[in-house]
Amino acid sequence: MAEKKQYDVVVVGAGPGGMTAAMYASRANLSVLMLDRGIYGGNLNNTAEIENYTGFKSIKGPDLAKEMYDGATQFGAEYAYGTVKQIELEGQLKKVTTDMDETFLAKAVVIATGSDQRHLNVPGEEEFSGRGVSYCAVCDGAFFKGKNLIVVGGGDAAVEEGEYLTQLAAKVTVLVRRDELRAEPIIQASAMKNDKMEFVYNTSVTEILGDDVKVNGVKTRNNQTGETGELAADGVFIYVGNVPMTKAFTNLDILDEQGWIKTDERMQTAVPGIYAIGDVRETPLRQVATAVGDGAIAGQQVYQYIKSMAN
Ligand code: NAP
Repeated sequence: MAEKKQYDVVVVGAGPGGMTAAMYASRANLSVLMLDRGIYGGNLNNTAEIENYTGFKSIKGPDLAKEMYDGATQFGAEYAYGTVKQIELEGQLKKVTTDMDETFLAKAVVIATGSDQRHLNVPGEEEFSGRGVSYCAVCDGAFFKGKNLIVVGGGDAAVEEGEYLTQLAAKVTVLVRRDELRAEPIIQASAMKNDKMEFVYNTSVTEILGDDVKVNGVKTRNNQTGETGELAADGVFIYVGNVPMTKAFTNLDILDEQGWIKTDERMQTAVPGIYAIGDVRETPLRQVATAVGDGAIAGQQVYQYIKSMAN
């Protein structure tokens, strides 16, 4: 049986919230491990430009991720790959198990797993994923220089990332299921001025079409008239909201009905010593700034919690 490595704090997820919690906790002289299923940065890596994070007029998501990582690790916090499968209680300690069958013990755990992109769940979506269907303009936009693209969704992400894609594509058509956008007015205003963007309202995608190799269009339905149609496109970018990444924590009884984690204002869940921060939390606003604020609170709270354990 492999030896269980022990830390004061295990932070699950190395997005903006997790990296901030790790920075605060390690700066308080706690031993800290950040575990992430991929590269640090979380959804920052899918974000072209961020204009609403204090201190930066505008910064690319991956650049901000690197700055945060350097800050998080400067006081000794460690970072490792691993998808957390379960957290169990072992006396006063928490046992964190990953998909690589590694086990870590911690006095406190901060869950910062964030959210994943919601899928449309229509025929063709899975089949053409990576062959014209994408959830990440920053990652895949360069494959579509001079092409015609469809963006599905009407929130901040659809409109902002759609506008980012106009730097590369010939045209970006945004299909919005209602008669209006959900995106913030400032984001809408910028997109409306962009000649390469077109908005088609009351329209849902019912199927993603393609040939043997790649996407070549979508089937649509008008939600007011019921009229169906087809629209040609070389790529389809889907931004229809997020779902919580909480499958690994169902045993802890800390989730709300939609699967987000419930906390108090100190980021404490119903289980003493387990905290949750950022997008994964039941919260009215999901932004880099709110995740960072949550992370600072949790980083300080774990210090208080561990100090109280020692007495
Ligand atoms: P969101 O705000 O939840 O918006 C989801 C959009 O997708 C809505 O327009 C929704 O339509 C539409 N939608 C949902 N299911 C659909 C379906 N099956 N078919 C077609 N359309 C569908 O999600 P988001 O834009 O991904 O943003 C997620 C969070 O990140 C938000 O809190 C947002 O503020 C934040 N964010 C912020 C920024 C920024 O501040 N610059 C940038 C990106 C994201 P309805 O309106 O009809 O529900």
